[in-house]
Parts: sequence; structure tokens; C-alpha cells
Amino acid sequence: MGRELVVSRLKELLGSEKVIDDPEELYVYSYTAYAVVREEPLAIVKAFSTEDVAKVLKFANEHRVPVVPRGSGTSVIGASTPVKDSIVIDLRPMRRIVVDVPNGVVEAEAGAYVDEVDRECRKYGFMFPVDPASAEAATIGGALAMDAGGMRGARYGTMRHVTLGIEVVLPGGNVITLGGPVYKQATGYDLMHIFIGSEGTLGVITRGWFKMVPAPKSVGRVVAYFDNVEDAARGVYEIRRRGFAPLIIEFMDDIVVKLANKIKGLNFPEKNMVIIDIDLPKEVLSSTLNEVAEVLKAAGASEVRSTTDPDEMARLYVVRKQAYPTFAAAFPFSFMGDLSVPLSALPAVVKKVREVSSKYGITIGLIGHAGDGNLHPLVGLQSKDEWWSKARPALVEIEGYSIELGGTISGEHGVGIERKDLLIKELRARRSEVVLEYMRQIKRIFDPNGIMNPGKLID
Ligand SMILES: Cc1cc2nc3c(=O)[nH]c(=O)nc-3n(C[C@H](O)[C@H](O)[C@H](O)COP(=O)(O)OP(=O)(O)OC[C@H]3O[C@@H](n4cnc5c(N)ncnc54)[C@H](O)[C@@H]3O)c2cc1C
Repeated sequence: MGRELVVSRLKELLGSEKVIDDPEELYVYSYTAYAVVREEPLAIVKAFSTEDVAKVLKFANEHRVPVVPRGSGTSVIGASTPVKDSIVIDLRPMRRIVVDVPNGVVEAEAGAYVDEVDRECRKYGFMFPVDPASAEAATIGGALAMDAGGMRGARYGTMRHVTLGIEVVLPGGNVITLGGPVYKQATGYDLMHIFIGSEGTLGVITRGWFKMVPAPKSVGRVVAYFDNVEDAARGVYEIRRRGFAPLIIEFMDDIVVKLANKIKGLNFPEKNMVIIDIDLPKEVLSSTLNEVAEVLKAAGASEVRSTTDPDEMARLYVVRKQAYPTFAAAFPFSFMGDLSVPLSALPAVVKKVREVSSKYGITIGLIGHAGDGNLHPLVGLQSKDEWWSKARPALVEIEGYSIELGGTISGEHGVGIERKDLLIKELRARRSEVVLEYMRQIKRIFDPNGIMNPGKLID
């Protein structure tokens, strides 16, 4: 079906104000946080309700037009990059949030920003457990579709672990609810978790119900500086091994800190950093912060600071917040990798990153939610040409090595366009290549005409 016909039919179905075919807008939507490829869609639909989504999916299914659901386009692996001749459904107009305090549940529509949901929960003394670094931009629908994690992953896991129910529109326009606003449900196959992390390839998630957790009343922060990057990684697993249960455990290597100082005018010791937040009642907070500091010193930290002063805590966190923007500002082309390994394998993986970085002669810094074994290699390139010749092979080596260590090629960013070959590699290494076929069969059940985000996750 040609562009003009698709656009006119969509306008008839939804009203012209919800359908965008302006070339400038199509150009803007052709970009996402995945700078490797871009593609313009046929049209963009701004969805204001589940019914809007259902109308689009009915039409698209009948006429075999590809559909790409979209939140804010912050996926760094091309999951939300439009596909050729597709309709992009932008869910961001769907932003309703309802906090149900007595039941400890927050309901949010797919287009609500994660940060917005968190702020709403905090009005009632609760918080939203999952906090991706992109929370101000990432939407609930995008976070569900990617099974996003974040800083508090060490404590609360990913979206999968906090979601109670979702509403989904299937190709053809049927609306189903999987799970709901209850903390337990034992009613057969767990289809909800098939949709979480499905990267928009099965249907469009229009809203969800989530657990809220109490917002911490007293929090302290320990920041440790290490001369040696492997010692820093060791420090992280020592904290876990000794049974501490921090709210966050973040890691950043000296390459990132040096660059952040230079580019963002900061003044941090140019060493490998571990940042740990502990939330405990006031009476035991200081003594626990001291214990954590001692463990980090024993692991090789040359300097450790701890504080419960909110301003000082915020100041100490600036460098972590600036890590990704620093790389984006310092290099003409940058990319954020993703891997997850068992905690005891963290020192091995940081060592590997250094080796691979010098082998290919490119800058690779490291940040990560290290408390759950999740690291993001930050690659900085002088030109996009270096992507295929240097950066991609380097990342394939690094993320591939995490498989050897018993880990995985993605902790939270997903597969998208970028990691389809690595997913196959991982399944082969686990002698589980047949899983790909099961995934294809699942896709055929929900999306028999293959209209949902084709070419992503699996072929
Ligand atoms: C600086 C930066 C920091 C980041 N930090 C983190 C982090 O800490 N943790 C983390 O997990 N990720 C992180 N990310 C990656 C990204 O922000 C997350 O994957 C996020 O959840 C994507 O949300 P979005 O709204 O931008 O989704 P989009 O990028 O628009 O979409 C992502 C995928 O979800 C699908 N999708 C979107 N909405 C729906 C819907 N309603 N129904 C079905 N499918 C849908 C899309 O088709 C696509 O496949 C980061 C990215 C950047 C650029």
C-alpha cells in the first residue's frame, strides 16, 4: 500500500490531527538513540487511547503494513528504529498515572515517563522500583518492551520483577489483559512475561500495573576510588559476598572519570569509582556505611568517602550522571554496549575490555549497574567509519566473552537490530539454538502476518 493511501485511511480512522506525514517530522522520527542506522516511516500515529491503537493494528494487519510501537526512541540497539514503509505508533500522549496506595499498586499508561511515575509514587511516600538512567525520557511502554533495568536493579531487578499486569493490543485489534493489579496470580501459562522484553514484536502494550515500594527514609552514600580497575570490580562483589543489600552499586572506570572532568569541568580523583547507596534506619546507617567503607578499603580502594548529606550525595553522583553525555560530547560517534556476568566474573570482564580496547586502538570506558553484574562499555570513535572496522568487532569480542564467563550479551538494553547475531551466538553456546525456533513460533501465534516491528530481535 502506498504512502498516500495509508495516510488517508489512517486519517479517516483516527482523525487527521492524530496522523503525521509531514516530511520534517518523518525525518525526526527516523532517528533514535541508535545512531548506526535510520529509516523514515510512512506515517506516525499519535495514540491517545487503547482504541486508537486497536484501530491502527486492525488496519495494519488487514493490509500487512509494518507497525513500530514507539515511546521516546531512547533504545540504543535499534529496537525503535522505524522499518521501511511502516507506521510508527507514538504512545506518548497516553500518560495517565493512578496511584492506589491501599493496594500498593501504581497503574500507568504506556506513554508515561518512568520518572513521572516515580514522582507520582513519591507524593505518597512510595517509589517506582525501576530507575533506568534514561528515566526522564524512557516511557513505561518502552521500559516494559525492553525489560529495562537501572540503578536500583541490584535490589529490585528489572521491569519483569515489578510488573503485576499489562494491557496489550494484538495485531488485528483485539485487546487483552495479562495479569492485573494483584500481587499474586497462578492462572496458567505466564504470557505477560512473554510480552515484557518482546521489543514491540508481538503487540502494543497500552498500560501496566506495578508494585510500588516504600521510598527510603534515610540513605547514605559511599564513594570509593581505586587505582586498579580489577580491584574496583572485586570491591563490588565483596560487598555482595558479605551480605550487604545496597540500594545501588554503580561503577565507573578512570577513563570515564578523566573524560568527564575534562569535558564537563568536574574535579573528581581520576580513578576507578564505585558508588554505593545504603538505605537503613538512622540508628544503624552510619555504622553500616563504615563497614561498607572498610570492605572497599580491604579490596584495594585508595580513598573512600561516605556521607548522608543529600547535597554532598548529589555532588558525588554528578560524574556518574554525566558519563554518557560526556562520551556523546567528546566523540563524533559514540555507542553504549551492554553485558551481564556473574558478580565474581566482573574483574575478568573489565580486564578483557582493556585488552580489546588496546587491540582495536579505540577508547572504551566502562560504566555500569555493577551490583547486578551489568556493565556498559562506552565506545568513543573519531568517525562513524570506525564503527564497522573497529567498534563492532570489539564489542562482539567483549559481549561474546561475557557468554564464556556464564553471563549474557545483554543485561537490559535488549537485542533489537544490533545484537541478533550475538543472541544466536549465546544460544549456540548454551546448546539451545532451538529456542530461536520457539521464539519464532510464539511470534507467529500473536502476529501471524509478521507486521509487528519486523526484523527486530529475531528474523
Ligand atoms: C543515556 C541512556 C541511558 C540509558 N540507561 C538505561 C538504563 O539504565 N537501563 C535500561 O534498561 N536502559 C537504558 N537505556 C536504554 C533505553 O532508555 C531503555 O531501553 C528504555 O526503556 C526505552 O524506552 P523508550 O520509551 O525510549 O522506548 P523506545 O526506544 O521508543 O522503544 C524501545 C522498544 O520498545 C518498543 N515499544 C515502545 N513502546 C511500546 C509499547 N507501548 N508497546 C510495545 N512495544 C513498545 C519499541 O518498538 C522498541 O522495540 C538508556 C538509553 C540511553 C540513551
